[in-house]
Amino acid sequence: MVVERKENLKDVKNFIFDLDGTIWHWNKLVPDVQRTIRRLKSKGKNIFYVTNNSILTRKEFAEKLTNLGLRTKTENVISSSYVAAQVFSKKNIDEVYTIGEKGLIDELEKEHISKSKDADHVLVGMDRNFSYWKMAKAAEAIRYGAKLWTTAYGENFRAGDRVLPGTASLVESIKIAAGVEESESIGKPSKYMINIIKDEFPVYKGRTAFIGDNIHTDVVTGNKMGIKTGLVLGGTSSKDDLANVEGVEVPNFVFKEFKRILKVL
Ligand SMILES: [Mg+2]
Repeated sequence: MVVERKENLKDVKNFIFDLDGTIWHWNKLVPDVQRTIRRLKSKGKNIFYVTNNSILTRKEFAEKLTNLGLRTKTENVISSSYVAAQVFSKKNIDEVYTIGEKGLIDELEKEHISKSKDADHVLVGMDRNFSYWKMAKAAEAIRYGAKLWTTAYGENFRAGDRVLPGTASLVESIKIAAGVEESESIGKPSKYMINIIKDEFPVYKGRTAFIGDNIHTDVVTGNKMGIKTGLVLGGTSSKDDLANVEGVEVPNFVFKEFKRILKVL
């Protein structure tokens, strides 16, 4: 794998960042993030965020970023909760059996999508109150022909010193219970998420970069959009993971620390 070290981000005007593991570890910003983002803004760069996290609404993500010292407008954030609501709304689906937290339910309700266990669609997002009976209801709906959707497909994630189960762990248990093998993700790097990013953010070749901590979601998303990509180490993907990737998974830049972004401006 070749990482072009001579390249730079001088011409890039729009920076799209992943959140979990890139910008923050949920309640704590990654070191030097605030200083780096401020520096980027002072150079006239536009800052956007995209996350597969479905716990909050896009508005709540913007508020959380602002509260942590990164002033952000709602329209500069795209979350999988928001994308899910847009996808179902465009398909004229108004009933979904949803497993997820308040942020996901609220985004769906904004689009007049209600929760029903008799729905033709099952949507699974992160749910820290996931239970045997939620799994049972989802599996039942799928056995009756409902389609299984997921907001993200991460097996696990880092939370401080712990590694906790990700949305895929919930989805897999439902698949086993329902006897199915397929599910469709609306999060990065799916076409659903990419289409909404392209619709709502200024995605221009050579002028926009996608920077995140996961090779298989963030780097792939940026590459599929034809924009520059950067991998920040210290989150999900490690230096060892990089040794085994090729094609759409190769990033233009690898940053050992977040602040190193400033070195290629
Ligand atoms: Mg991440």
